Amino acid sequence: MLPSASTISRRLLGRLRDVMAGGGTAQERLDNVVKLIAADMVAEVCSCYVMRAGEVLELFATEGLLKSAVHETRLRVGEGLVGIIGAHARPLALADAQTHPSFAYRPETGEEIFHSLVGVPIIRGGRVIGVLVVQNKSQRQYTEEEVETLETVAMVLAELVSSGELINRDELAPIDGNAILPMRLEGVRLTAGIGIGVAVMHQPRVVVQKLVAEDPEVELARLKDALNRMRHSLDRMFEAQDLAFGGEHRDVLETYRMFAEDAGWRARMAEAIQSGLTAEAAVQKVHEDTRVRMGQVSDPYLRERLHDLEDIANRLLHHLVRAGGDGSTMLDAELPENAVLVCRTMGPTELLDYDRRRLRGLVLEDGSPTMHVAILARALDIPVVGRVKDALSRIEAFDPIVVDADSGQLFVRPSDDILDAFAANVEARAVRMATYAAMRDLPATTRCGQSVRLLLNAGLLVDVPQLEVTGADGIGLYRTEMPFMTRPHLPDVQAQTALYSKILDASGGKPVVFRTLDVGSDKLLPYWNSADEDNPAMGWRSIRITLDRPAVLRHQLRALVRAGAGRELHVMFPMVAEVAEFIHARALLDMELERHVASGGVLPSLVRVGTMLEVPALAMQLPALLSRVDFVSIGSNDLMQFLFAADRGNMRISDRYDVLSPPMLTFLRWITRLCDEAGVSLSLCGEMAGRPLDAMALLGIGFRNLSMSAPSVGPVKAMVRSLSLARLEDYMASLYDLPDHSVRERLRIFALDHGVQL
Ligand code: PEP
Ligand code: MG
Repeated sequence: MLPSASTISRRLLGRLRDVMAGGGTAQERLDNVVKLIAADMVAEVCSCYVMRAGEVLELFATEGLLKSAVHETRLRVGEGLVGIIGAHARPLALADAQTHPSFAYRPETGEEIFHSLVGVPIIRGGRVIGVLVVQNKSQRQYTEEEVETLETVAMVLAELVSSGELINRDELAPIDGNAILPMRLEGVRLTAGIGIGVAVMHQPRVVVQKLVAEDPEVELARLKDALNRMRHSLDRMFEAQDLAFGGEHRDVLETYRMFAEDAGWRARMAEAIQSGLTAEAAVQKVHEDTRVRMGQVSDPYLRERLHDLEDIANRLLHHLVRAGGDGSTMLDAELPENAVLVCRTMGPTELLDYDRRRLRGLVLEDGSPTMHVAILARALDIPVVGRVKDALSRIEAFDPIVVDADSGQLFVRPSDDILDAFAANVEARAVRMATYAAMRDLPATTRCGQSVRLLLNAGLLVDVPQLEVTGADGIGLYRTEMPFMTRPHLPDVQAQTALYSKILDASGGKPVVFRTLDVGSDKLLPYWNSADEDNPAMGWRSIRITLDRPAVLRHQLRALVRAGAGRELHVMFPMVAEVAEFIHARALLDMELERHVASGGVLPSLVRVGTMLEVPALAMQLPALLSRVDFVSIGSNDLMQFLFAADRGNMRISDRYDVLSPPMLTFLRWITRLCDEAGVSLSLCGEMAGRPLDAMALLGIGFRNLSMSAPSVGPVKAMVRSLSLARLEDYMASLYDLPDHSVRERLRIFALDHGVQL
């Protein structure tokens, strides 16, 4: 009987260990290694290529090719089959390599007589640092097991290549100019804010010392034990977080826990142990595979879940290496008082490992606003800049760093000028915050005595306490899509009821306007395959989806009715384009109310139903609409994009048109007039409501209800309290018919001249 693949690789690993532990130079050891692999895999050729300066793969050792080619043959990443393996970080097995379009013939190697080829990347820290290749004269079909064996061997070789004995370690990291000079790096804002501190490289990696094991059974038992300990420590961590938070955090952590229990992941580690690796080497192998896979997955949801998986692998590694420890990755004692964490990516629990009082910011090479760590950071009020290219190689530990997440940029080793400017900014912000906090209980009333309702936009349970902090009058827009986006499946009626009840409990009796599911366009649900649409902002989104999938809307409405039993319920439908859509959606709500009564449920004390106005066509049906709704809220973000036919997500045209322009202001004024005449309450909940100057213009037009994110309440209230409306209204009457691109500057001058606080 032929020996199994795992027996082959165990035997090979045992021999490799002897060679590695033996004497001689690193080059001599590498020469012996390729000889050994060729013999063990019954191949005529085994070659090892090493990455130089991040871009060239140099032949470093070979058994079977001409020795004179060693250190002579070089392939750029992407060039030839070796370069392709290096570029894609994926194995390649070909029975007839020479017919492959990427085959690059190198006469100095004498490889023309070899037909089949199998190669695997040598990976370290998520980067390809070399390629290991085996070749045969015959047209051999390499089996999956042989590829796996070679991958395991490549992992052992990664230690040798990265040891610094073969090539200078610096060559393995991409070099980027002079590390001493100040540097500005661009990324994207994942969580707003400004933080100043020193870089702390988040280094979850444990250096695995022992790779090859004697007895797989012992290793399997160690793995099992570490998995158990990890589960217990996760349970403890989740309990502690539950006390502090609740709601969506639990969703995040539960999705995470699901991955920790993933059978496929455990099976892959067990398999790696069977092939001869120690438990920690097996975890690391799966970890490296995950990192590489992550670079290749384009689906954002899947990428984020892979981050979670990687985080768990790391945690497990800590449990194995520090047997008996709690697996935490950073001791608080080591963490500076003003740490800015820098990493490629981070799982949610890794962030929770740090003392949040010492965190000033987070910098990620990867990242999207919906990734779990970003959601948590937002709740913890930590500024995050994501997608900073090569952050890890360009920032050094303890570099002073300014995280300007508001503008999606970083200043590394900033000059004193920059540091002073941002320090002044942070200080001024703190002073402003204190002023706003002092205004918390003062009414939002203009100097002429007109009171204005300031409401909050919210989307997470943790946003609700901001009602208390800011003194806002209620929640004018509760975006309900977040729990739908962070879960792997649709939340059921029970889960939704529980969440909506908690929101109402936490609001302390202040009104909360729940907007029904508004997904599609940029807000994608992982479990609904959206068809590729050329123009998703105008596509199958929002109410169009939920009217086409009425069960989803009915379940949400059922949960809202249940949560609202005995108290006020405010429901708002998004993206309504015609009255008929509103009538349809409202009929579903009525059905749910009837159903609730029929089953003996207590009705809400008051039901108010409204619509967002963000599609211009709806404004053309206002008389028919206003007799049917209790309130209207203008979604100026979407309204603006449809009014000007300017995609709100397209950076190229993001500043092209202004909300403070005659057409937009005229359109808004016309809506306020009709709503006033019909006695229907009107608010505006787009971003402009939260900007003091824009909010001033809205008051001049006639708005009396504005809904905004929590940090805007203070600045807008200060503006309201310094304003006299009569003069503003007169002044604005002169603006509507102007041919100007924007009247922003005119309004700013008006504010300055009239002592309006902006
Ligand atoms: C809007 O469009 O202005 C709005 C408030 O909704 P969203 O930003 O969630 O689309
Ligand atoms: Mg909208």
